Formats: sequence, C-alpha cells, structure tokens
Amino acid sequence: MAVLDQGPPHYKKMLPPIVQENYGQWKYHEIPSPGVLKHVAESGATLYSVRVGTPRLVSIDFIRDVCVIADEYCDGFLRWTTRNNIEFLVSDEAKLNPLLEKLEAEGLSVGGTGRSISNIVHTQGWVHCHTPATDASGVVKAVMDDLYEYFNTMKLPAKLKMGLACCLNMCGAAHCSDIAIVGVHRTPPRINHDVIRKGTEIPSLVASCPTGAIRPDPKNKSVIVNEDKCMYCGNCYTMSPGMEIYDPKNDGIAILIGGKTSNARSAPSFSRMVIPFLPNTAPRWPETTEAIRKIIELWIANARKGERVGEWVERIGWEKFFSLAELPFSDMLIDDYIFSRETFRTSASFKY
Ligand code: SF4
Ligand code: SF4
Repeated sequence: MAVLDQGPPHYKKMLPPIVQENYGQWKYHEIPSPGVLKHVAESGATLYSVRVGTPRLVSIDFIRDVCVIADEYCDGFLRWTTRNNIEFLVSDEAKLNPLLEKLEAEGLSVGGTGRSISNIVHTQGWVHCHTPATDASGVVKAVMDDLYEYFNTMKLPAKLKMGLACCLNMCGAAHCSDIAIVGVHRTPPRINHDVIRKGTEIPSLVASCPTGAIRPDPKNKSVIVNEDKCMYCGNCYTMSPGMEIYDPKNDGIAILIGGKTSNARSAPSFSRMVIPFLPNTAPRWPETTEAIRKIIELWIANARKGERVGEWVERIGWEKFFSLAELPFSDMLIDDYIFSRETFRTSASFKY
C-alpha cells in the first residue's frame, strides 16, 4: 500500500515495546533521584525516564549526538517534552547508571522533576516570529542559568512551572504558569500607509483587531487606528507589515504569577500580573532574572511544603504578597477593577 503524506504516523507506533505491552496498566511512579522517574506497571515491568534540559534551539549535530546516546542506552527510545526537555527511556535497569555517567560526561544536565523547576516552556522570540515584544530563548537561557540550582535538586516547596510568551498572543501557554514571563508592547502600531495601500487586504486587517480599534479609511485606501481602544497586541501586524508594532524603548517584559493547570490540592488558576514592565536588557536580562529570583526566594522562605506559588499567595493574600515582595500595586495589575480600588484581591473573600 502506498504511504501518502497524510500527517504524522500514529504515536503508538513510536512507543517503546515496554510501554506498548503495559499500555494503560501503569501502577505508580516515583522519583529516586532528581531528573530520574521510575514507572512501575501492574505486571512489575519497570521503565525509567531520565530528564535532561535543553535550550530548545539546538543544532542538528546536537540531535545526532543525543540519538547516538539513546541508541546505546535506551534501544533508541527518547522523547522531547513540551518543556524542551529530553527524556531518555531506559527499560534495562542495568543501563541506568551508565547512562547517567555518560550524560554527566557529556555536560548534559539531568533534573526538572518533583520539587524542582522544570525547563521553561517558551515561544519563538526574535529568531522566528514576527510580533514578539521580547526574545524567548535568550530570556529563558538567562533565567535558567540563574536558577540552575533549582533544576538539578528538589529543594523547592513544590514543583515550579514557568512559561514565557513573547507577546500577548501567549502561544507559550504562559497564562497558567506558576511564574509567567510575557512580552508586552506598550505603544500602538505605526501605520505605513504606502505598505497598506500596496499589499494589504483591508477587511482582513480590520477583522484582525480584537478590540475593534481599526477602521477603514477609504479616502486614503488605508486604515485608521483608534489608539484609545488599542491594547498593543500586535495582531494587526500579522495581517500587514504596514502596522509596525516594534518599539525598542517601550517593548519589554511583564511578570505574572500564581497560575497552574493541575487540579491537585486546589483548582486550576490563571496567572496574575505582578510586575507590569521590565526592560529588554539583552543579552542577559538582569532585571528579569533578579525579579524572578526574588519571587522564588520569597516563596521558598514562606510557603508550606507542597504549596504551589499561587496556593501560597492565595493563603497569605495578594495584599501580603505585594508588601513582602516590595512591589508597587496599581489597579491595572489584576483582573477585577471593582475590588482592586480598595484591595489587591479579586474576590469578595478577603483574608486580612
Ligand atoms: Fe509569536 Fe506571540 Fe507566539 Fe511569541 S507569543 S511566538 S510573538 S505569537
Ligand atoms: Fe488592534 Fe492589537 Fe493592532 Fe492595537 S495592536 S490596533 S489592539 S490588533
């Protein structure tokens, strides 16, 4: 039968034999050491995943090297996670320690499990997308270098999931992270009427604006932006290069905290903004790394064991968090402006 180009092959074909044989029959998992997960099936079969952090943008040579390691220790089975970690899948326990020694010898970092920070899930940044207000991999590299001690140990109060989205479109799912780094534009698009006239579908451009800030300007065969309605999202720039959104002085980073997707211990929650703007100080983003470290150290010092960042803040109250973090509060920072006039909280259940 001819194999047609009809999408990727079914994932089950790619699973290691031990996973296929025990599919849906896994009993429990534990973490014998940072970065190593031990999965045990009902049948008694045991599989280890060894997690290694990567910077996400990697060379072909690096991928080849990693595959050679997987061939030698894992029968060729490994997976890339959504957080840009590599997981080596070891079904022969005798190969676990030799694999760990090999990874150490190759300078690859094992970690990111349990009460640690996993790698930061992130977006395209300056390398690949057209609307970023900050870089992705560059910021993540700087932040993870600073937080490395929390990647290969498990000394945090709970797991720490961070995300970075380089614009408000948030294709990095940063809105439900313990700590989210979000690129923000702060000025409306500058209209290049010549570019719009020469090659833009004006109805699509008008329709691209989520706040209805763009209207046609038939006299000039262009558009007009109502700047009061603009939220600087950059969506219109995806429709036309004539809507220039970049602004080196005003583009930067906002920090949001307290989100999670898990429903363990407490319901899932969205992250909330606590720092509206930090400058784009490439290549090492010192203001951002310092602000994030400060929040993490406060969480370590004050949270109970097992408490995620948002659970800790909810327990002590957002009022207390802003005071402890010495962060200025404004009513633009949270999502319920009625309560925010008098309090930092977004619900009527106050906890003073
Ligand atoms: Fe592009 Fe925005 Fe996604 Fe970044 S978050 S990759 S700028 S769409
Ligand atoms: Fe509309 Fe966003 Fe463009 Fe502003 S930046 S005009 S809100 S699409």
